[in-house]
Amino acid sequence: MRVKVLFTDNLVSRNRARWSAAEIQKMPSLIVGHRGTLDHAWGSVANRWGIVVSANAVKGEIPKDLSPEEKAVVDKEGYWYAECDIEVAIANVPSRAWLAEMIQSLLLSENSIGFSYRYMRCPNCECAAGDLRSPKCPNSYEDISYYERVDVQEVFEVSFVEIPDVRRARILEIDGIKVEDLLLEQK
Ligand SMILES: [Zn+2]
Repeated sequence: MRVKVLFTDNLVSRNRARWSAAEIQKMPSLIVGHRGTLDHAWGSVANRWGIVVSANAVKGEIPKDLSPEEKAVVDKEGYWYAECDIEVAIANVPSRAWLAEMIQSLLLSENSIGFSYRYMRCPNCECAAGDLRSPKCPNSYEDISYYERVDVQEVFEVSFVEIPDVRRARILEIDGIKVEDLLLEQK
């Protein structure tokens, strides 16, 4: 079975950080081929659950419930998100609806796909320091409402276990069928 997941977007997440649209567009080529796990059993791949087989950066419809801060972001860049298709390798999945339900209820609130990045920048920074931690930057991490991650490097985790920080991260489809339809089918 193939699960399509929206894993991040260019809005400010719960940990006060965001990726710019330009960084989002670099992610697909970095994530394809990575394996995902279902838990943090470090040192073991026993709970491996799938492999990322394709990924896209999408300029999507602008969500309606934006904060003023988020509105400023989409006014500048539009709304961008990154999605990937994961070929799920869990044995004995009874049905697509079951898988959708499981991910929706149990795992969705805990999804995590993490990328490393080179440095953090204050939003709209004009001090030319670039890096928020540079002495040349007049702003400090504590004073800004959020920071931007710059120069995405590589994936360090594809799992469904950490506290979610991307508000709109969710499973979109299984085998090309929208999750809403799968869950309706089951009722
Ligand atoms: Zn700065």
